[in-house]
Amino acid sequence: MTTQTKAAVVLLSGGLDSATALAVARRDGFRCHALTIAYGQRHAAELEAARRVAAALGVVEQRVVRLDLRAFGGSALTADLPIPQDRSAEEMTGGIPITYVPARNTVFLSLALAWAEVLGSFDIFMGVNAIDYSGYPDCRPEFVEAFERLANLATRAGVEGRGHFRVHTPLINLSKADIIRRGVGLGVDFHLTHSCYDPAPDGAACGRCDSCQLRRDGFRAAGVPDPTRCAAAVVK
Ligand SMILES: [Zn+2]
Repeated sequence: MTTQTKAAVVLLSGGLDSATALAVARRDGFRCHALTIAYGQRHAAELEAARRVAAALGVVEQRVVRLDLRAFGGSALTADLPIPQDRSAEEMTGGIPITYVPARNTVFLSLALAWAEVLGSFDIFMGVNAIDYSGYPDCRPEFVEAFERLANLATRAGVEGRGHFRVHTPLINLSKADIIRRGVGLGVDFHLTHSCYDPAPDGAACGRCDSCQLRRDGFRAAGVPDPTRCAAAVVK
C-alpha cells in the first residue's frame, strides 16, 4: 500500500485554506507530510492551530521549521506595525496591504521543495487563493507556474528526470465560501483553524482584520456556522 501511494509535502499554516488543501491532498490519495513555518509571525496562535489540524487530518508527520523573518521585517505580521482594521471590500482590493510578507510564499515553497526532494516526492500542496484574497502577488497562478518551472530546474531530482515537480493549488480559483464548503465536505473541523492576524493573547480572533473579515464573510456566504472564537469586545 505505502509503495503505491505517493508522498506529498503540504504547506500547513493553521488557517482554513491550508487545512482544506491538506484535506484535498488526502482525498487524492497522497501520504501527507505537513510543513509548518514558524516565521516570527505576530499571530503565532496559528502554529498551535497547525498542530491541531495536522493531528486531526492524520498526516504522516509534521515538521515545524523555524525561520525568523522578523530579521527583515517589512510587514505588519513580522514588524511592529499596526494591523489594518475594519477595511471595506474596496480598500481590501485596492492594493497590496501592509500584511504582505516580502517573498513569503517563495521562501515557503523553497523549503517545501527541499523537503520534497529529500522525501523523493514530486508533489507540493499549498492553499493559496486568487479570488477572496488580500492582493498578495505570490498567491497568483502566474507565480505558482513560475515556481513549478523553477522547481524542475533547481533540483537534482528534476534535472536527472526522476519525476516532474508539481505545485498543487486546489483552491486557487475558489471563493472563500467555496473553500469552506469544500472543507466541510472533506470533514475539516474549522474550529481547529486560526485565521486572525492580530489575535488576543489567549488566541481569540480580533474580528476586524482583513483575514477575520474574509473568513467571516466566507462562512456567511457558505451558510455554514462560523466556529471562530472572537475577542469579547468584538461586535459582529
Ligand atoms: Zn483578526
